Amino acid sequence: MPIDYSKLQAIPRRDEPYHIVVTAAHHDDIEFGVAGSVARWIREEGATVTYVIITDGGAGSNDPETTREQLVALRRAEQLEAAARVGVQDLRFLDYPDGCLQATLELRRDITRVIRETKPYRVVCQDPTAVFVHRAYVNHPDHRAAGEASVYAVFPSAETRPIFPELLAEGYEPHKVGELYLNLTQEPTHYHDISATIDLKMASLSAHVSQIGAGADFENGAKKWLLQANRDGGEMVGVAYAEHFRVLKFDEERESWYKEEMGRRASGRPNPAQ
Ligand SMILES: [Zn+2]
Repeated sequence: MPIDYSKLQAIPRRDEPYHIVVTAAHHDDIEFGVAGSVARWIREEGATVTYVIITDGGAGSNDPETTREQLVALRRAEQLEAAARVGVQDLRFLDYPDGCLQATLELRRDITRVIRETKPYRVVCQDPTAVFVHRAYVNHPDHRAAGEASVYAVFPSAETRPIFPELLAEGYEPHKVGELYLNLTQEPTHYHDISATIDLKMASLSAHVSQIGAGADFENGAKKWLLQANRDGGEMVGVAYAEHFRVLKFDEERESWYKEEMGRRASGRPNPAQ
């Protein structure tokens, strides 16, 4: 079913301080996907943010002259710089081998540990359900594995005491997350206007020189492409630039499916599932 972008809601502003954990399979995933939103949440809402980079980035080059060790060190430095440019200082590198990621219990436990330690209100991760994108792109299996492990770290692992007793032994008590934001999604429910932070997003992305080049290579390549993608997203919802998310809220009273269905029948609206 095609997405009706006119029905997407704007992400509401939060007035109290809160923490966000953003997980991603690769160095640069956050900058491509959500750095504009992260920059706004930090600047406008005073949010604090932890980035969790799950793989070591060692598969990010086909150059036979580059060793895996060199690349891992270089990409870590690039990621630290990219994060600093939007104001993120807390980064966790889980160092799983790039290109072969699986949603194992070990990975879920490692993400759960960060959630229990930093106690985020919001977790942002990659949508594990996206397999084929726009009939032109196969989603990277690392993105799906990262997303699946993150979703199940949020629920049930972070909030359920008996899961991962070794974390309790390490002193990490259960923590309930308030919201889950999925990016790289094909079923967005919300958009975020990033017109005010699009320049910061591009500055952050430009730190990944080993992946996207510099100077004209960057300007005419990744930057041009991503500006256009965010402009296209913005056009769908009537703003200059936007990022999209599928949002799950755990901190509000559960919506009743029956109530929703009664309302739909009363209004004579067609069933969206058909
Ligand atoms: Zn990636």
